[in-house]
Amino acid sequence: MKLKKKDIRALSKDELRLFFTEIGDQEFRGNQVYEWLWNKGAHQFDDMSNISKDTRQVLKNHFVINHVEVDSLQKSKDGTIKNAVKLFDGLIVESVLIPTLNRTTACVSTQVGCSLDCKFCATAKLKKMRNLNPDEIYDQVKAIDQESRLYHSKPLSNIVFMGMGEPLMNYNNVLKSIDKITSEEGLGMSPKRITVSTSGIPKMIKKLADDKVKFNLAVSLHSAIQEKRIQIMPFATKFTLIDLKESLQYWYEKTNQRITYEYVIWEGINDTREDIDALVRYCKQVPCKVNLIEYNTIDDDSFKQASKRVTDTYIHALEKNRIPVTVRRSRGKDIDAACGQLANKK
Ligand code: SAH
Repeated sequence: MKLKKKDIRALSKDELRLFFTEIGDQEFRGNQVYEWLWNKGAHQFDDMSNISKDTRQVLKNHFVINHVEVDSLQKSKDGTIKNAVKLFDGLIVESVLIPTLNRTTACVSTQVGCSLDCKFCATAKLKKMRNLNPDEIYDQVKAIDQESRLYHSKPLSNIVFMGMGEPLMNYNNVLKSIDKITSEEGLGMSPKRITVSTSGIPKMIKKLADDKVKFNLAVSLHSAIQEKRIQIMPFATKFTLIDLKESLQYWYEKTNQRITYEYVIWEGINDTREDIDALVRYCKQVPCKVNLIEYNTIDDDSFKQASKRVTDTYIHALEKNRIPVTVRRSRGKDIDAACGQLANKK
């Protein structure tokens, strides 16, 4: 019976070093191969030019290198690029490069589809197929970094985990991918330039705090009124605003890092004085800032972006209470690359 070969990138550096001593080679060979896999992004053992032919053959006998491929690339008129990324088993996820004047940001996926049921999100309409492996998350970043250098003549400056899926439901792999992204053998990026966005899973937010992570945390709030939030994000029945608040207080105590609330304002849903007052009250419980996100339409008529007047009323109320607020403009709408639009349409 033919044994299924293992993905070599599932091995840590120590495990690779051990592999080489076990086959009677030298430990440092593990470092060389690790560098090929992570820093140089080798997709084939034969690319590893400083490894002997015999050793490459041993590697081929034991392992495969599972890697992702950019299956198709779409460019928006605003410079945003969306990649459809094919995984080793043929499944597809999307990731996005968002260029602005001062930064280029990668938005990456963490799951194929999503198990949550946010009513306003196109990804939620796709069934969750599986979690991404750490290297599949890392490869999306690496591909976008290369595109950033190619099309914008500069390396990637920021990463947001805001693509398909719920990052905290793929906790270990997301953290492993961030370890690779921030390590010198990977991209050597500062965790300060990375933001993980969650729909708000209290237990996992506490775990992040216990694990003393250094990246930024964003929480998709969208309503500070429990009954309303469960209408637009039904899973919130289990993960209540009270538990969320408590976990964020814990996060702040442990990390001393301000969190960001993501918030879309929809007509007839969360556009009243009561909604604004509830948000202000919620914001006062934990040091935070609010990012008002422009709504990106999906194939659902129930949601419509509220007017500029309502947005201004929100901004005014937050500022009056000294809560920092920013507005996130949509990017890449013409190619369905904006927040909440990733749905493998192509
Ligand atoms: N699952 C994670 C990350 C993915 S979504 C989370 O929920 O945070 C990234 C952000 O886009 C979230 O704040 C999400 O609520 C928001 N979003 C989803 N659909 C959207 C839409 N149609 N228009 C604007 N923002 C949307």
